[in-house]
Amino acid sequence: MPQPVSKRYLRLFNELAKEEGITWKQDANQNGLPDPEEVQLGAQWRKLNAKAKSARLTNTAYSIFSRVEERRRAAVQEALKEKYLKPYRFAWNPRALPEPVQQALPKFMEISELTEELQLLQLDPSGLEWMAQVRNGARQSYKPEIPAGDLASWKLFQRGYGRVYQFEGGCHRYTEDPFCDPVGSFPDWDPNSVMWADDIRTTDDLQKLAGHLQEALLMSPFTVVEKGPEGKFKITEYNQHPLFKSRLVRIAELFGEIAALPGFSGLEPDMAQTAVAYAQALERGQGPRFLDDAEITWAKARGRHIAFTWGPFEEPQDPHGIKRSFQFHLFSVRQEASEELEQFQQAVLQEMENRLAARVEGYEAANVSVPSVIQVYDVIERSGGVNNSGGEYLAAVIPNSGPVVEGGYRKKQIYANMNEGVFENVLRPLAARSIDPAQLKYVQPRFLTLGSTLHELSHSIGPTENQTVKQNGKEIPIKTAMGAGLFGALEEAKADVGGVWMYPLLRQKGLISEEDEKAGYVTFVANRLRSIRFGSTSPHGRGANAQLGYLFETGVVEFQEVDAADGGKETRLHVNLDKMPQAVEAMTVEIAAAQNQGSKEAAEQFLAHAEQIPQDWDKVFVPRFDDIPRHIKLEVQVQTPPPEKEASHEAGFNCGCNLGARP
Ligand SMILES: [Zn+2]
Repeated sequence: MPQPVSKRYLRLFNELAKEEGITWKQDANQNGLPDPEEVQLGAQWRKLNAKAKSARLTNTAYSIFSRVEERRRAAVQEALKEKYLKPYRFAWNPRALPEPVQQALPKFMEISELTEELQLLQLDPSGLEWMAQVRNGARQSYKPEIPAGDLASWKLFQRGYGRVYQFEGGCHRYTEDPFCDPVGSFPDWDPNSVMWADDIRTTDDLQKLAGHLQEALLMSPFTVVEKGPEGKFKITEYNQHPLFKSRLVRIAELFGEIAALPGFSGLEPDMAQTAVAYAQALERGQGPRFLDDAEITWAKARGRHIAFTWGPFEEPQDPHGIKRSFQFHLFSVRQEASEELEQFQQAVLQEMENRLAARVEGYEAANVSVPSVIQVYDVIERSGGVNNSGGEYLAAVIPNSGPVVEGGYRKKQIYANMNEGVFENVLRPLAARSIDPAQLKYVQPRFLTLGSTLHELSHSIGPTENQTVKQNGKEIPIKTAMGAGLFGALEEAKADVGGVWMYPLLRQKGLISEEDEKAGYVTFVANRLRSIRFGSTSPHGRGANAQLGYLFETGVVEFQEVDAADGGKETRLHVNLDKMPQAVEAMTVEIAAAQNQGSKEAAEQFLAHAEQIPQDWDKVFVPRFDDIPRHIKLEVQVQTPPPEKEASHEAGFNCGCNLGARP
């Protein structure tokens, strides 16, 4: 039933109604509808008789109502974005780098720009057009214009990044099925075989499969799929497609130029070698997997001053984990911190894997001692997939499929400036309002960063997603057996608690102190409070809820009344530090066992620990956190130091971390 309308609503309505020739003077009878006697109508209405006029007025009004709603929603979302995503400025001084490395920077920036364009091309052949429109303000965001009912085009778009953008209307605009899932509907679909199918090695293999686009290559990361004029699908490798090729050729040139900069390869031997590997692959590469070798070179490379990541990589927001989007990252390396973490990895990883295997029935310890690269970076520039999906991560292990994984070289990247920004803007204020004041000294930025690192290390222990389990006489990957959503939530929880379980071992090995271990535990608890705010639909949020529930259940955390600033009492969270090691060990074992069996029931049982969070949690803490942002948006400000005797100033060069800011 319509509600009587407010003056404000009337104004919004009339703004949109103008082009329809309608002015709604007032809702005199308060029925929420513009009745013929309440409106003034333009010339286009004159020819209609009273009955037709009334019918058309009602129809037009409803269509305007929905547009008004859309506008209001957009305005609210804008406001929420501000509230939840606080801009975090990070100042970076490139002049601190050695001269030859500085000279590489403009070339990396050009690669970044080209990569942005490549990803937009991947999104949709009209991606570049959108980009131009977004830049000149004609469009707010990227959105495809797919005719309703054109399921083939819709699937094509989904093959790109439709899902990542979660654009309005969703799948059901194109099918009758409100739960339509174009990926899930492929028969006997197996994510691993789709993306890195062993039989897709050559151009011929691709062409043979062209007849089955709906089933396989629609999702392949190696090709451009377009719908031809007769509605037939055509597939082309990236380096053969004219729009992609011209950009890839330029990127190859730039990589070549970077490697050839005088003095560069002496200062950055690994990065120079990687740049050469990519340049050669892009120039001479054949077949759909022409980047494989270059990617392995990259995965083994350590930066000394700077490091980069380039290529089609997984889109973390893709729930099926099968798409690869072009993306670029430029980092400034924190050398000392990187070395420390490599040492931690060597010292504990294999031993943790062995300890876990000893406690999980039927799980055999894997060899995880391959020294895969782990580096601590400040994020300086990013573009393509990482930029457009809204992903701002604290750390990442990439890639998750392909030859790098098979070789055991997955690269671990810890984003130090992101961690510090999150600590200052989110974690510190959350802890200040919730943790026992006597334990606040243990909430420290170093242990958010170290926690992120141990989280990433812990992804390497226990069952992996490709491990199989027998179901109905068939071997299927445990990820498929559990379902991607459940698996993801468990995997993130395992990384969280498995990481904390490493603290005692690090202390026993003399790598951290007893006080450090305590800081690790309390910072971990505070960080649960941050993670649960991402909600139970995100894998991180869902896993964090279960962990917090478990911590309450086992008495590791409890409510405590403390003296408040106003002289009264206040409820805070106290951490019983001595109980933590056993709890995180037990959680890790419970999760790994569920994964090892590929058991949905066991996974759900673990997640049900979330029910142990006390009932008045929401009443006690949630209102206190209301004005604390959820996350940050990194804005890198490139600072050039003042010429001698001049006052310090910031150069007006925003690194172009989002499209809008790019000149
Ligand atoms: Zn993770």
